[in-house]
Amino acid sequence: MIASDPGSRVNESPLTETVSATWTRPFEKPGSIPTAADVVIIGGGIVGVSTAWFLAKQGVNVTLCEKGHIAGEQSGRNWGWVRVQARDTREMPMIIESMDIWRGLADEIGEDVGYTETGCVFAASDDAQMERFAAWLPTADEYGIDTRVISAEELGRHVRGSGVSWHGAMITATDGRAEPHKAAPAIARAAERKGATVLTACAARGIETEGGRVAAVVTEHGTIRTSVVLCAAGAWSSMFCRSLGISVPQLRVRGTVVRTAPGDAVLDGNLFDDHLGIRRRQDGGYTVAHGTTLDHPITPSTIRYAFKFLPALMQERKGLNISIGREFIDEWRTPRAWALDDTSPFEQTRVLDPAPNPRVVEGIRQNIDRVFPSLAETEIVEAWAGMVETSPDVVPIIEETQSIPGFHIATGFSGHGFGIGPGAGKAIAGMLTGNGSGIDLSDFRLSRFFDGSKIQLQESI
Ligand SMILES: Cc1cc2nc3c(=O)[nH]c(=O)nc-3n(C[C@H](O)[C@H](O)[C@H](O)COP(=O)(O)OP(=O)(O)OC[C@H]3O[C@@H](n4cnc5c(N)ncnc54)[C@H](O)[C@@H]3O)c2cc1C
Repeated sequence: MIASDPGSRVNESPLTETVSATWTRPFEKPGSIPTAADVVIIGGGIVGVSTAWFLAKQGVNVTLCEKGHIAGEQSGRNWGWVRVQARDTREMPMIIESMDIWRGLADEIGEDVGYTETGCVFAASDDAQMERFAAWLPTADEYGIDTRVISAEELGRHVRGSGVSWHGAMITATDGRAEPHKAAPAIARAAERKGATVLTACAARGIETEGGRVAAVVTEHGTIRTSVVLCAAGAWSSMFCRSLGISVPQLRVRGTVVRTAPGDAVLDGNLFDDHLGIRRRQDGGYTVAHGTTLDHPITPSTIRYAFKFLPALMQERKGLNISIGREFIDEWRTPRAWALDDTSPFEQTRVLDPAPNPRVVEGIRQNIDRVFPSLAETEIVEAWAGMVETSPDVVPIIEETQSIPGFHIATGFSGHGFGIGPGAGKAIAGMLTGNGSGIDLSDFRLSRFFDGSKIQLQESI
């Protein structure tokens, strides 16, 4: 049953505050801003703050500008899964690095991020799915990951009291989960303690160039001179880059999520099947989403990038609710470029806060009751949505742009950037300093979408 109108975001759990307090609390405007920095990062999600932390640890003078709250968008709204299991091979070196960072993160920064290694399970509803799981095992072997395909009987020892009959599962015991409302804010504070400047309620409106190179970032509170900029602006990266004449193919997909009150311990880690994406929370409740349903509101970007996204749209077509509404008009009305001494679109939407889809919330409730009957009386105490930004091949875009030396992009984490965020931050910091990180970023270059390369999509799992 649903305890209340999901849009009302009631606080009835033992959390001291709702998850949505991450993005609904008052904005903290900066008193002053630096006039110069070695590096300026645009965006205070997990990617931006992790990069700032790795730079600050190396003594780099870094300033991060976030238009709203740290983790106010995707990085505070996600499911909290930290997984290697079933990753695209291009992401494997970076996610393996990231897992190592997560394991030591709380100790290193001296703050809890809710990380625990309780495993990740993908349950199969038929034998064909079991075969697709088995097809990923050679990748796991190649990278030394302890992923196994297990029988329905063994699955019953990991997931208790299920009301559905699965054929078996794929399981990675060393995968984990963390609390999104804690992780990026804690990393941002750690970066500050190492000397980074973290500015919130501080939108970057654009950049200035000199001789074609980056020379400054213009924010709503003034200009910061710098020769190195990172655009880690999540769902806004494409719009920011377009204002500079750089095309970044990116579409937005809305994911609805709920949080339950504490309930029976039906599982300790993460479980995904056709019905649910569910993980145990640190407070004893569950973060739950529908296993297969996402909403894509059509916008002018859908039309602009349709050809590049066709393979991904075809692959995801079963679970995608495509609609057209206000989002189309809103994006249509947004100017392509704007004066840097006037309010920009980033200040007009400080926090991208889509409403949860009530039909999806209802579906999640029904699926919880069906898959875990012992949770049928456990209330849903909060619901929210997040705009996932995705790239045409569902892996990130990370590079220094060719048209504006000094201007770098890290975006397109495509619904799985939380887990890989700390590893990405380390790799990006290496790119920005020129010192490298041992992680090859060539698969993530933006030009792969424009140089005639075939869009490479991982096979569905
Ligand atoms: C519902 C949902 C479930 C998900 N589940 C998982 C999961 O279980 N595991 C996983 O690994 N990933 C998951 N993801 C994906 C993951 O959350 C994202 O890939 C990741 O958080 C992206 O981080 P980011 O830093 O790139 O972007 P964001 O977290 O979106 O941060 C970008 C920031 O940039 C700011 N910004 C934008 N423009 C400007 C500007 N001009 N000036 C200043 N600031 C600006 C924004 O306000 C925003 O805070 C999920 C995402 C969603 C929405």
